[in-house]
Amino acid sequence: MVNLKNLLENIDEISNQEKVKLVAVSKNVTEKEVIELYNQGQIDFGENRVQELKRKQDILSSYPLKWHFIGTLQKNKINHMLTTKPVLWQSCSSLELAYEVDKRAKFSLNTLLQINTALEDTKSGVEPNLAIETYLQIKEECKNLNLQGIMCIGANSDDKIKVAKTFEDTYKIYQNLQKYGVKICSMGMSGDYEIAIKSGSNMIRLGSMLYR
Ligand SMILES: *Cc1c(COP(=O)(O)O)cnc(C)c1O
Repeated sequence: MVNLKNLLENIDEISNQEKVKLVAVSKNVTEKEVIELYNQGQIDFGENRVQELKRKQDILSSYPLKWHFIGTLQKNKINHMLTTKPVLWQSCSSLELAYEVDKRAKFSLNTLLQINTALEDTKSGVEPNLAIETYLQIKEECKNLNLQGIMCIGANSDDKIKVAKTFEDTYKIYQNLQKYGVKICSMGMSGDYEIAIKSGSNMIRLGSMLYR
């Protein structure tokens, strides 16, 4: 298990003391690891499956944890996802999905627009060239979605320059949205978080490296 204090210091160093929020992704571990991280001070956790999010939430309901939903959302899971009331839905991946969730939400749901900056078929998210337009449309039309920013997953590549390019492109979109009040640029996972932070990320989602 990672030493959280050391990791957070390392993150501060990479970001030149800019605030970068850590979301601990617990999708491949049990509640035992979640509690270990909580005992080191971690509050924000992420899950990519509604079922598992609900399960951990229930088991750990006596802990003051904040849950993020970060996975691809199937239409038939929308109501279930909403019952978990995540602190942040990071993976709104299309205008259509935004409409569907907005229609059923009975509360204000903090949301990030997921952008497929890497342009990979296996990844969800809106095309980068439609990102701003889609963001503004959701902001205008989806009154139950409280859009807070954007999210992306880095290119699946060993080429660091290629990975950096996805993050830099995403950060440019984030900057262009600055005048519309964006706050969160969520990018960076275990294999690429240093590159993501150097490209301007202010929220990283770390899984595997925390539990080694
Ligand atoms: C699994 C996952 C992560 C964490 O990935 P690691 O490589 O384990 O750090 C981050 N974001 C999303 C959307 C994920 O599905």
